[in-house]
Amino acid sequence: MKKIALIVVAVFSALSVSAQYYVDNRNPEMLRIGKPHYITRQEFYAPSVDGYTAYKADLHTHTIFSDGHLSMEARVREAWADGLDIMAVTEHLEYRAQEKNLIKYLKGYVGKDTKAQAYDFVRGEGPAKEDIKVDFNVPVEIAKKTAKYYDMTIIPGIEITRKPDEYCHFNALFTTDNNAIYDPDPLQSLRNAKAQGALVMHNHPGWLRKDMSLTKFEKVAYKAGVIDGIEVMNGPEFYPKALTRAWKHNFFITSNTDIHQPTSEGYRNHGDRRNMTLIFAKDKSVESIREAIEARRTLAYSYGTVAGDKELLRKFFEASVSVRQISVDYKGRRQALLTNNSSVDWWLVREGKAAILLKANSSVIVEERSSTDNLFTVMNAWCGENENLTVYIFNRL
Ligand SMILES: [Zn+2]
Ligand SMILES: [Zn+2]
Repeated sequence: MKKIALIVVAVFSALSVSAQYYVDNRNPEMLRIGKPHYITRQEFYAPSVDGYTAYKADLHTHTIFSDGHLSMEARVREAWADGLDIMAVTEHLEYRAQEKNLIKYLKGYVGKDTKAQAYDFVRGEGPAKEDIKVDFNVPVEIAKKTAKYYDMTIIPGIEITRKPDEYCHFNALFTTDNNAIYDPDPLQSLRNAKAQGALVMHNHPGWLRKDMSLTKFEKVAYKAGVIDGIEVMNGPEFYPKALTRAWKHNFFITSNTDIHQPTSEGYRNHGDRRNMTLIFAKDKSVESIREAIEARRTLAYSYGTVAGDKELLRKFFEASVSVRQISVDYKGRRQALLTNNSSVDWWLVREGKAAILLKANSSVIVEERSSTDNLFTVMNAWCGENENLTVYIFNRL
């Protein structure tokens, strides 16, 4: 084998080809020249706060079991590779565009008169109950099976999908039986989810809307007390007014991909990280994650923007960015070294000064020259619809 390797090295050098390879022990005449084909995880560093670990979650995903483009196995693996710890399975309850293809494919197994019930969600009303013949718990089972190999926690759920501009969509999370949720009446569907102890999230509240005002149905649902949380970010969309709504109704807040395609298309191929809900929990069991969401210990992250409760956001920023004094000049003016130990790039602005970009895993030196130099506005950290986080950096010296 050594001989073969040496010969190959000689041939390669003679041709002036620079290549990395190794001889495959199973077949010494075969060389392996490509990179190993195993999955690697892109870590996302988010510090702990108050002793709670920041778990990275996507609480809104789709696969071929509704109208997504990937299998459930690929979706779970992808979530792990993207740095997530938690993934919710939330197929559309009413809209399953892939169903007709699956039935066609399974023609030898299903009856001739079996029709797909890929409900046209723009019509608003749902199908008759007896028209739904799929088992909505199967996607959850498959996700859990796959997740065992990837150290991921799966949260069972379903997306109640009605006419978006009138009713909107709602994710029921922590469901126990997805088959018991559907009802032609959307409010009854939400009640069915609540009856099995699910937490209900109002999805993408600004999608296909002209403004953020509540529709008649949303007003009814809010008043009925069947909503627990709201997506303040969905994919590339951020709805600052949803923060005001969350604070008013004591909703938990989230940021999710609502991914249908591979995440490489909207995120990885552009060098971006996928949307994440940072959940501050004592461990990543389903129970602890639920406890953290119920206690409202979540932050929303999308394309470098972070949003959430002001105090949680402040603690998260301070845990991410360490401050150390490096010098004092003869006038007592201080210089500080800011080091960002998180994967979030922070945009810092001071009155009358150019913006500072404190990139992930980087440091910058800032100087205190005047009385206004201590107060920094963190431009990519939102704690209200018109409010960014402000921090007094030099107070931390
Ligand atoms: Zn939706
Ligand atoms: Zn969705």
